Amino acid sequence: MICSNCKEKTAVYNRKYSGQKLCKKCFCKSIERKVAKTITKYKMVSKNDKIAYGLSGGKDSVTLLYIMDKMQREHKNFSIDIITVDEGIEKYREDSIKIVDQIVENLNLNYNLVTFKELYGFTLDEIVKILIKKGDLETKACSYCGVLRRRALNNTAKELGAKKLATAHNLDDEAETILMNITRSDITRLLRYDPIPYEKHPHFVPRIKPFREIPEKEITLYAYYKNLPIHSIECPYASESMRRNIKTVMSILEQKNPSVKFNLLKFYDQIFMKNQADLQKFDSFKACIKCNEPTSSEICKFCELMEKIS
Ligand code: SF4
Ligand code: ZN
Repeated sequence: MICSNCKEKTAVYNRKYSGQKLCKKCFCKSIERKVAKTITKYKMVSKNDKIAYGLSGGKDSVTLLYIMDKMQREHKNFSIDIITVDEGIEKYREDSIKIVDQIVENLNLNYNLVTFKELYGFTLDEIVKILIKKGDLETKACSYCGVLRRRALNNTAKELGAKKLATAHNLDDEAETILMNITRSDITRLLRYDPIPYEKHPHFVPRIKPFREIPEKEITLYAYYKNLPIHSIECPYASESMRRNIKTVMSILEQKNPSVKFNLLKFYDQIFMKNQADLQKFDSFKACIKCNEPTSSEICKFCELMEKIS
């Protein structure tokens, strides 16, 4: 099987959703080109932007960092500041932080490590223990993790004076999130995943996701071909997440229709683009009565969760 792009080398990857068969070199180039195209298409980066980058050490965040760092060195039109959040998950996060240290040193980037313990007084493991002690077996670790990490990333990015906050969410993450919020009938959350970064509120650093159109398995393959140092141990709380069920549903759908994730994203983007002005009205914020941070209800999700463990 010959590469359908260079017509010379042996193809190693069959891209079912496009019909392309690619050799290693053309495959890697196609990923880099797609990231650059996504950044341009959604106006993710402006000239001289300082980009705060959430680096966990996992394959997605490491891979995107290598691609963005390469772009930054070639074009010199933006800068990258790394933020790593240590949630305090024993026998998991320590190892990934070692990898992050090594990457940041190799690439010579500004590095900021923040911990749940320092920011909020508890590690994620301690929060889980408190919940169990209180007899709350319903609230999952991931619910705390997501909300607390989002706040940590945003507030640190804000302190750094960053214009954007980049995360390595991929096509699978985005499609799962869309489907998950539809099944929960949560329109407010659904409409938070805007493709084009805009300032929803002066307190929130606009988010960018340059991997949003790249399937997870292609990122894994790219990381493998480039021999990138990645942390591949699964979080001990991962099996509890609702996302896992959605993932299973999605992979069943994908067997019949290889474009299903792209279709979901396209469907969402069309709704967003056509109704942008109206949709942004959903972002009417008030100040949380507890912490003063912007929220759509009386009390923000963060304070609601912290109240449960106080
Ligand atoms: Fe956090 Fe859940 Fe992800 Fe673990 S699986 S890092 S607890 S969101
Ligand atoms: Zn609050």
